[in-house]
Amino acid sequence: MPMSKQPVYYLDNNATTRVAPEVVEAMLPYLTEQWGNPSSAYTFGKKAGHAVAEAREKVAALINANPREIIFTSCGTESNNAAINSALTSQPGKRHVITTVVEHSANIQFGQTLEKRGCEVTWIPVDRAGQLDVHEIHEAIREDTAIVSVMLANNETGVIYPVEEIAAICRAKGVLFHTDAVQTPGKLKLDVKAMEVDFLSLSAHKLHAPKGIGMLYVRKGVSFQPYVMGGGQEQGRRGGTENVANMVAFGKAAEIAMASIEENLDRIRALRDRMEEGIISSIEGVTRNGAKEPRLANTSNLSFTNCEAEAILLLLDREGICASSGSACTTGSMAPSHVLTAMGLTPELAMSAVRLSLSKYSTDEEVDHLLAKMPEIVAKLRGTVPQTPTPKHQKIEQ
Ligand SMILES: *Cc1c(COP(=O)(O)O)cnc(C)c1O
Repeated sequence: MPMSKQPVYYLDNNATTRVAPEVVEAMLPYLTEQWGNPSSAYTFGKKAGHAVAEAREKVAALINANPREIIFTSCGTESNNAAINSALTSQPGKRHVITTVVEHSANIQFGQTLEKRGCEVTWIPVDRAGQLDVHEIHEAIREDTAIVSVMLANNETGVIYPVEEIAAICRAKGVLFHTDAVQTPGKLKLDVKAMEVDFLSLSAHKLHAPKGIGMLYVRKGVSFQPYVMGGGQEQGRRGGTENVANMVAFGKAAEIAMASIEENLDRIRALRDRMEEGIISSIEGVTRNGAKEPRLANTSNLSFTNCEAEAILLLLDREGICASSGSACTTGSMAPSHVLTAMGLTPELAMSAVRLSLSKYSTDEEVDHLLAKMPEIVAKLRGTVPQTPTPKHQKIEQ
């Protein structure tokens, strides 16, 4: 059956991104013709092995790492779990972990599980703007701290954290440092040598490649204990037969992101600002969640007073518009976002927050459609008359 042709106005790129056509093209041969096992000794298998090596080089180049420092994983979640797990298992005397209250659920859930297993976790808070105080991390580090894990940019608000500064503090204190950089490729320039982090996580599906492939950077010289054990794949650091096609796709997406970051970013930022300012100026009672800067150029998180985000999303969906309330992982659970709650928003204001996130494929038309529909949707839910674009004399159907 052909798929629905109803247009999709996709404003949820922090949840996942469209796979780039060039990426599909690059990976296809590894599903159709070159389906050998990279570990096999014969030429047919070795060809797949060469493709994996090339993909590893491209992903390494994206973050200025050495290919030997890259471990392919199944996703960003696994990469985060693997980094923290490794720090704990390679330093058996150290049972303390420091992370923040605004991390992705990958870290939140893993941290809570570690607490049940007898580890101690210090959860660093954030202020009203969603920013953390580096000094608090400095203060929290102890003799038995195994690792500090702080995300580079928040997936819900786009707020960027001072990871370079935090990494320097950890280095001075001899503590391992991990950063979840999943939201940042194509949006920030990444350089592990400049940042001097020990571990860094990425996920390909946030970068116009397929779901189910991620990577963990492990700095040369840092001890690594595998999280997934099996065959000797990934230099014995992550078992499981290589997902060759997805690795090739990740490599291609990394290459494209590196080549085009600057030209895309300026346009995305201008489009995001037009979208955000358009909503704020046409609807009363809209507030931005999170600092205006430093913030990812593609992300806007807005609260609509006296409106439930779930209701807004339902009405947006009827117009073909995809957006999200905070993180996709909490959608449907009807619990206010842990990120917005940590920033001190009331449950009501947190439940009225909508996240809009753009990509290089976002168009003026998509933003225009949103700006045309949003005022009447909010007015309908509030039982009021929209300010624009509907003229004042026009009756609103309830
Ligand atoms: C999406 C996301 C993840 C999880 O990545 P998966 O590949 O979906 O497991 C982790 N951290 C952040 C910040 C994310 O946005």
